[in-house]
Amino acid sequence: MTNNSPDDLGPDDRWPLLPAWMWDCRECVRKYEAMKYLQAEIAGLVADDPGVDRDFMDSIVGTQISLSRHLADAHPEMLPGWDPDCRTCAGHRGRLAQTEESSEFRLGTVMVADEHRARHLFAPPRTVGLM
Ligand SMILES: [Zn+2]
Ligand SMILES: [Zn+2]
Repeated sequence: MTNNSPDDLGPDDRWPLLPAWMWDCRECVRKYEAMKYLQAEIAGLVADDPGVDRDFMDSIVGTQISLSRHLADAHPEMLPGWDPDCRTCAGHRGRLAQTEESSEFRLGTVMVADEHRARHLFAPPRTVGLM
């Protein structure tokens, strides 16, 4: 995590290209831009001062959650399927398989799984599995 130069990002750190339908949704665009804006701001701050306040990091996480929640909520039919190479996908899948349809936890389990799948649309491969 010492590499702050945007010029030599490896493929794992690259932001995927958003699917076209996300650009057609104002809410997606708004949340995505907010996240990227904050990300850029913070990259600048961290470059100046590596000990930058953790609260800033939390706000990046907040914007990411807000985007994936919106995606899971508003575009459930557009979410990508499970990624066979993603351990977090595998974990969510396993939990879903263990949760009964009728369980009171079912809804929450589906929700976090959907939010994670949504991350595959916009998060760099290295950070997709963090949530
Ligand atoms: Zn949207
Ligand atoms: Zn995944």
